[in-house]
Amino acid sequence: MQALADEKVFKCPIHSFIRVTDKLIWELIEAPEFQRLRRIKQLGGTHIVYPTAEHSRFSHSLGVYFIARRMIDVLNKQGTRFTDSERMLILCAALLHDLGHGPFSHSFETVLNIDHEDFTRRILLEHTQINHLLEGYQTGFSQEVSDVIAKKHPNRLIVSLISSEIDADRLDYLLRDSYFTGTPYGEIDLERILRTMRVVNGKIAFKHSGMHAIEDYLFSRYQMYWQVYLHDCSLSFNFLIQSLLTRVKKLLTDGYAFNCDMRLFHELFATTDININTYLRFDDGVITTFAGFFLEESDATLRDLASKFLNRGLLKEFDYEPQENSPQLYEQLASAMEMANIDTVSYLFNFNHEQSTYDHYGLDCESIDILTADGISREISTVSNIIQGIVNAPKKKSTIFLALDHVKASANKEQLEKALEALIGRSVHV
Ligand code: ZN
Repeated sequence: MQALADEKVFKCPIHSFIRVTDKLIWELIEAPEFQRLRRIKQLGGTHIVYPTAEHSRFSHSLGVYFIARRMIDVLNKQGTRFTDSERMLILCAALLHDLGHGPFSHSFETVLNIDHEDFTRRILLEHTQINHLLEGYQTGFSQEVSDVIAKKHPNRLIVSLISSEIDADRLDYLLRDSYFTGTPYGEIDLERILRTMRVVNGKIAFKHSGMHAIEDYLFSRYQMYWQVYLHDCSLSFNFLIQSLLTRVKKLLTDGYAFNCDMRLFHELFATTDININTYLRFDDGVITTFAGFFLEESDATLRDLASKFLNRGLLKEFDYEPQENSPQLYEQLASAMEMANIDTVSYLFNFNHEQSTYDHYGLDCESIDILTADGISREISTVSNIIQGIVNAPKKKSTIFLALDHVKASANKEQLEKALEALIGRSVHV
């Protein structure tokens, strides 16, 4: 393994200094596919509600690399020795785990009907600079890195460091998202969590003295979900981007004559087998720049959505308790909007979501184990009364998002109000 002649250092507000000593890690960071992550915001549209949440997937990826490196050091001290190539596998998987994210991830993926994890795999395995570097290190190494990220690698210990209920990814994003949003809920005791990590029977467990730090971590996750990741304004903005991209796709399919050059979007929407080079050209800036161009298009819906996107014209949210007849009442609201000439594809969304704080029976999730005084590791909900209370108890959210300005301007405003009231179970005055 080649070391750099001089180590490189990134200043980081979360981890202070992130040091790079391996030549391969530095070359991966320098590759264009990794540099692109500078141009993708970590939290998509969350800056619309927390204005300083402008941090990038680039800085988060460096943070995950940093935490993975700390984990290797802690485990090494405890007697779990990784070979050079295992160490490099952990570091590369940590650094590259978010490589396939597109701009405004969730909305982009929904409209394209793709999964960013597929694109992470493709960037690792197809003809890219990243692939060239990984294969230069060791033949077949790109596949190994891909397998760790996809949780398919036979070394489950390595997989769990990158992807489990408590992993390098989540530990970094909770701290980072908390810092950049200015919400204190994500502040976790990373030092204690790392210092109490052990390997028991090939699996991570935490010393009993670290249990309260783990409890705090799980509650931080819960609070960050509801306060940040599932904030109504973030969700509303995501739906707006989804509407904008869906409109672009429809107009391209219908043969609408755009004034601006749409070749890039054509390549994106024309096939389900998107060329990796086309995909890599998309970042937050491309979407924002095109939204500016769309303000001058003749299609009124496209213009309106682009303006709402650029000027924070959010869809309005209405929470409701789902009843047996809610699906029918939603359909009635949708037909009332269509009757009023309001495009429901662009301006109406029904969001139903369940979020578990900690679900150790969930697919692909490694449980969190606590090493008790008798030397046996036990799943945390059997040891902690607090976690026992929240395990497998998802919190639910049902919310309607709609373009209130279109409802207000409609001649059918009263019928629309009535249809909305019937669904959400309370009176509204738009
Ligand atoms: Zn991540």
